[in-house]
Amino acid sequence: MVDYLSNNEENYSVSTGCYSWKASGASKDIVSPVDGAILGSVKLSTEDDYNKVVIKAKEAFPYWSSLTAPERGDIVRQFGDELRNDKNELGKLVSYEMGKSLQEGLGEVQEMIDICDFAVGLSRQLYGLQMHSERPNHRMFEQWHSLGVVGIISAFNFPVAVWAWNAAISWVCGNVCIWKPSEKTPFSAIACQEIFKRVLKKNGLPEGISNVIIGDALIGKLIASDHNINLVSATGSTQMGKSVAQKVAGRLGKSILELGGNNAIIVTQQADLNQAIPAIVFGAVGTAGQRCTSTRRLIVHNEILPDLVVKLENAYAQLRIGNPLSENSHMGPLIDHEAVSLYEKTIDTALREGGELIFGGSKIEGEDYGSGCYVKPTLIRANKTMSIVTKETFAPILFVIGYDDFNEAIQIQNNVPQGLSSSIFTLNLRESELFLSQKGSDCGIANVNIGTSGAEIGGAFGGEKETGGGRESGSDAWKAYMRRQTCTINYSTEMPLAQGIKFKF
Ligand code: NAD
Repeated sequence: MVDYLSNNEENYSVSTGCYSWKASGASKDIVSPVDGAILGSVKLSTEDDYNKVVIKAKEAFPYWSSLTAPERGDIVRQFGDELRNDKNELGKLVSYEMGKSLQEGLGEVQEMIDICDFAVGLSRQLYGLQMHSERPNHRMFEQWHSLGVVGIISAFNFPVAVWAWNAAISWVCGNVCIWKPSEKTPFSAIACQEIFKRVLKKNGLPEGISNVIIGDALIGKLIASDHNINLVSATGSTQMGKSVAQKVAGRLGKSILELGGNNAIIVTQQADLNQAIPAIVFGAVGTAGQRCTSTRRLIVHNEILPDLVVKLENAYAQLRIGNPLSENSHMGPLIDHEAVSLYEKTIDTALREGGELIFGGSKIEGEDYGSGCYVKPTLIRANKTMSIVTKETFAPILFVIGYDDFNEAIQIQNNVPQGLSSSIFTLNLRESELFLSQKGSDCGIANVNIGTSGAEIGGAFGGEKETGGGRESGSDAWKAYMRRQTCTINYSTEMPLAQGIKFKF
């Protein structure tokens, strides 16, 4: 379909760094959820393969970190330019391999370009503070140094953008990266690596600055346990995050965790429903409900709930589900058959717990849906006591929950283990301010009159509670990718001690 797919023979040779290598583990067919076709086959990496990649990354670090930050920024700028050139092809590959709509595949590449631009600017702004010393003729300041090797573990649903968030910032900070993409979407990762390698080659730089290693959870576990990895940035399920967190903490390492979400939109009586409806529908069915920020719960004032449900049913009835590469389709497939069965199980459980099916609720059969991964977007009338509502299911299922009192709405919103994204639709200043106040949303992202999904790269991205507490992308998230050093210089002729301590002999 695209150039990157042409080399899809059994022993795909994955170039991972300063050299090309063949992974030596089992072969895995990569099946597109779009049409069930085999895109190609990759060999999964073993521990031996992993160790070789680590050596090459470590070899590249001293040189890369010795360049100035603006010099590194210029390499990231060139990568952004290459992505601009390859946006269509890479976007198509992402859509075909992962199953998201072409618009979203292209959007993901745009996000990579945007973070490159952000990182280029950042390369001239890695500022430390200067403090007034309590001792005379002393200067105290902090500065930031590179960390070393950053291990990036990423999920299938954003096959390329999440890596770029981590890699572009890591690179300007002077780190080298080892990326373990999801084993469900390796070709998109290989394509990115090939694009970045072109930039490295053009500039005569060691390829070990950027490494990709295709493998399953074993490779993720090795990254988490490895003292050579100075920062582990892991994106995926909460279950995976707990395992990674324990391993990294066990060696007192650093981690950034970007885990599951269970995001809600509150719609009050004061909402503009013309704004709310498209945001709800996009939030719930965009990427077939497979975004960490997908809207999974709708918390609606009981007075407007019946009207809102009719409007939503209307909107859902107009959705076109089909091949995501067609501009005609609003929603593509789920990633695989396992995801379809989780979708079905969640609906069964919800109905057993007292939920009421409003729309959808089943798999879509038929010739155009041959991969077996297409499902109907689903609306379920639920109540706040149902335990299934507190869990994240990676599928287009939206639970509609009624409330009577504003504080109750906030309580329902916060009463889940996850804390990623949240939003409120209201034109009432008091309601929106309360939602954003200390007593309001407990999530890492809180929006007013905007849905839960589709964050901009300029802000720090991440969530609280079981979402893991990490922050990536914009604002000062870069600080997690560097080590802080506090420096004090004495330019007096005395030897004064801090806290006024006298030490005479
Ligand atoms: P997953 O947890 O199954 O896999 C994610 C990655 O972790 C994969 O590369 C996988 O091979 C690896 N992995 C699995 N078990 C591991 C272990 N024990 N140790 C180390 N690595 C391991 O997740 P998924 O199904 O690919 O993605 C969906 C999940 O990711 C959802 O929960 C979603 O909310 C979450 N997600 C979160 C964010 C965020 O920024 N908060 C972004 C995207 C996805």
